[in-house]
Amino acid sequence: MVLLLFPRIHRSLFEQFWCIIQCMTPIRFDNSYAALPERFYSRIHPERAPKPELIRLNEPLARELGIDIEWLKPEAGLAMPSGSRMPESSEPIAMAYAGHQFGGWVPQLGDGRAHLIGELIDVNGKRFDVHLKGSGRTPFSRRGDGKAALGPVLREYIVSEAFAALGIPSTRTLAAVLTGEDVYRETTLPGAVLTRVAQSHVRVGTFQYFASRNDMEAVAILADYVIDRHFPELQEAKNPYLALFEAVAMRQAKLIAQWMGVGFIHGVMNTDNMQLVGETIDFGPCAFMDSFHPDKVFSSIDQHGRYAWSRQPEITGWNLARLAETLLPLLHPEAEEAIKRAEGVLERFSEAFRRHYTEVFSNKLGLSGVEADAGFIEATLSTMAANEVDFTRFFRRLTQLGVAGEGGEKGPLLELFSDMDAGNRWLEQWLGRWNSVEDREGRLNAMQQANPIYIARNHRVEQVIEAAINGNFAPFHELVDLLSRPFDAQPGSEGYELPPTPDEEVRQTFCGT
Ligand code: AMP
Ligand code: MG
Repeated sequence: MVLLLFPRIHRSLFEQFWCIIQCMTPIRFDNSYAALPERFYSRIHPERAPKPELIRLNEPLARELGIDIEWLKPEAGLAMPSGSRMPESSEPIAMAYAGHQFGGWVPQLGDGRAHLIGELIDVNGKRFDVHLKGSGRTPFSRRGDGKAALGPVLREYIVSEAFAALGIPSTRTLAAVLTGEDVYRETTLPGAVLTRVAQSHVRVGTFQYFASRNDMEAVAILADYVIDRHFPELQEAKNPYLALFEAVAMRQAKLIAQWMGVGFIHGVMNTDNMQLVGETIDFGPCAFMDSFHPDKVFSSIDQHGRYAWSRQPEITGWNLARLAETLLPLLHPEAEEAIKRAEGVLERFSEAFRRHYTEVFSNKLGLSGVEADAGFIEATLSTMAANEVDFTRFFRRLTQLGVAGEGGEKGPLLELFSDMDAGNRWLEQWLGRWNSVEDREGRLNAMQQANPIYIARNHRVEQVIEAAINGNFAPFHELVDLLSRPFDAQPGSEGYELPPTPDEEVRQTFCGT
């Protein structure tokens, strides 16, 4: 009404008001990590993308984080996800860390192409890091260009969000933006920036960074920080540092069992890629298996199979031992006693992993812990490996067989085995166990929750990336949408259940850094 009467004056007032609202940036960052001592990071601003263009904004996640979506959108200049304009409350830093890469010690890594721009408290009061990746050089860049190519950004978007939908702890992706700038890898590629959201970015390698410098004061500060932020209940423990190590080990035990249950191979389980809070982080050369084999490896740089599917628990134990080494003086004043305590935790890690693994695979098989002993699980997996059975389809079709009941067709499951007779022998064993299940409904429910219909198959991810590099982002959006409901049959999407044809098969993945 007032606007109608005094259009000119009030429009300009309105515009001013609008500008104030926009520039006020309705994001209030907190910066608890940046409040730690200066030697924990380097203060550095992200680079401005020359011509930012939004690829995708994760609106549900933005809402959970209490971010005003309009503010992130193109009309507002894609301010934050492209590094173009930081909220005033942002105190951007690049975090310092070290790490063992493929077992070799690297005393300094750090965020070489990433910036922690601040922390947000979500609608449930939980604190999250907001991190830009591909946002320019930092003092930790070494010889790198500080940039990210479109392919790895899309891969991280797809897989991290697929993990969230599968219920597996993971860092999340808030946005992906084209920078409008080329990056040079083996060829010229479009540059992109990913906005990563994580419970925190403290890694095993962060502890190693300080311990290797004999800076035990910093190790204690960091341990206290992690306890306060993620495990406040441990403040009351008799030895909070030992309790922290145990809590971290227990989270990893569950996480790795969950990875294995979806046929996931992380591919680069270096200590700098293992977070204390127990989320999956770094989706560089990761892959989901099509046909099952425990020794499968995809990463082009993993020449000795260090990070093969079946070695992931052992490597996690190795990484945890490296974490323990950094904490020893805090575990007990006497070295021998400290080592004994750490070893106790590592033993309990192995037991916890076994428990979770058995539970994951019992659920996948529709059996309870009683009917699916470890022996049957191993026999199942070795039959699958010998018969080159597609991992995801096998468990999907087994679920369908369970749902169908007595008259269910065995053919669809058996045709996944290269030797159908071997398949039939296995199925007879399974049916024997399944027939003794009392709570069928409960088991079927658990089975449906454990066996996704759709996973981010490598060939699909590659196809999506190739299309996007050629300017077509529709397949990317379709795949992300599909994988947001991996347990629901989505009519018209049957093709996504299929393994690759020999032409489509992806045998190697690359870090792409
Ligand atoms: P990642 O393989 O992603 O775990 O990275 C290992 C280390 O290399 C980390 O310190 C990264 O920050 C750094 N890094 C990876 N890519 C780049 C890049 N393009 N420019 C600078 N540093 C990088
Ligand atoms: Mg990494």
